[in-house]
Amino acid sequence: MAEICKLLYEGGEAANSYLFAKEETGAALLIEGCASVLSVKKALKETGCELKAICLTHGHYDHILSLPELISAFSCPVYIAKEDAPCLQAGNPANVAWLFGRQFAGCEANYLPETGELSLDGISLKIHFVPGHTAGGVLYETDDFLFTGDTLLPGSCGRSDLPTGDETALRLSLKKIGALLRKKDPETILCTGHGPVVSAKTELARNMFLK
Ligand SMILES: [Zn+2]
Repeated sequence: MAEICKLLYEGGEAANSYLFAKEETGAALLIEGCASVLSVKKALKETGCELKAICLTHGHYDHILSLPELISAFSCPVYIAKEDAPCLQAGNPANVAWLFGRQFAGCEANYLPETGELSLDGISLKIHFVPGHTAGGVLYETDDFLFTGDTLLPGSCGRSDLPTGDETALRLSLKKIGALLRKKDPETILCTGHGPVVSAKTELARNMFLK
């Protein structure tokens, strides 16, 4: 049955967020914490689904900036890899809010399970740990979509020179993503942290980091 994915882009400092929903169960996840409460409410209404959790690909400010408001509006759990959890502490330089001249208020979150799967009521995601852009970077896989955060960007990849970044680890993670993409349907949609969505086929043909 149909997997639904809606890109929520607010402009300004915010990265892309995605509402991922399963039509048959009525469950939805918000990938990233940078959409406005209003646009998440609108997307939930359009899909007729209920938000079960917010899943972060990593802890950079542009991906988490609306988290405090989202948590108070939806009272749902937030998930982040253990290695990036310090980013959610107020004033922790690892979230690079300083890069934007901002401060992050801080919030609570759960660690993503290390089993490689997050399974909630009516919806699940496969988790791939892809360090390099940050130490706790993850990619989420579903049947039809891959949520890459900033590890893989359209035609490119994220930077590795920020706190906990590691160029060698990033290159290795991108090669693993390349191997994953070659196994997926060529029409699988890559939902990246910035820029337009793109097919696996297109990205494999042009992105040298995936070779
Ligand atoms: Zn980032």
